[in-house]
Amino acid sequence: MKVAIVIGHNENTGARSVTGVDEWVWNRKVAQLLAVNLKRLGIESVIYLRDPDLVYTAAMKKLARQIKADRCTVGVDLHFNYYKRGHSANGFEFLYWWASRSSRKMAQCFAKEFGNIFDILPRKGRWFSGWVAGAKMLWLRSWNKRKADQRRGAEICYYTHCPFIICEPGFASNYDEWDKLEMNHKEVAEAYAMGVMRFKNLYL
Ligand SMILES: [Zn+2]
Repeated sequence: MKVAIVIGHNENTGARSVTGVDEWVWNRKVAQLLAVNLKRLGIESVIYLRDPDLVYTAAMKKLARQIKADRCTVGVDLHFNYYKRGHSANGFEFLYWWASRSSRKMAQCFAKEFGNIFDILPRKGRWFSGWVAGAKMLWLRSWNKRKADQRRGAEICYYTHCPFIICEPGFASNYDEWDKLEMNHKEVAEAYAMGVMRFKNLYL
């Protein structure tokens, strides 16, 4: 097993939390700690940065090519959620490309482990019976929308060759939720490492 850890965005291009923390900066720390956690568990990983000189789609395609060339077997893209209009939006979600069953299973593993460790609810949504709340599919209707940001990063999940998910541990625009996340990079990284382990033990 080899885990691709993609840090979402570049510095100053992602969202900013209610306390002014940059999405890329925060997730860089999580990425480094996740790599340490995985190493401790005997799992190899590689950290990837988005090419700042490319537009979104080209950058995602390049990442997918690199991840394949490095023979990674699973991957995560690290983000946090942000809602511009108000502070009430809340909840964690782990996003996967709708047609990838293995990615769905991995998202479910992450949602379970993250939900066990953090006092944060899954993002509200229409969860089908038998599905794990907080594991959300990215599907064609989203894909067809014109604005890239509305595709919610579906492209990285689509282009990658292996099980791949986007991690959204909560809303940085929500004071209560951000308070639970801001200084807890370590716990977030632990939850993600447990998610990887759960997926490995159950499905690989
Ligand atoms: Zn993001």
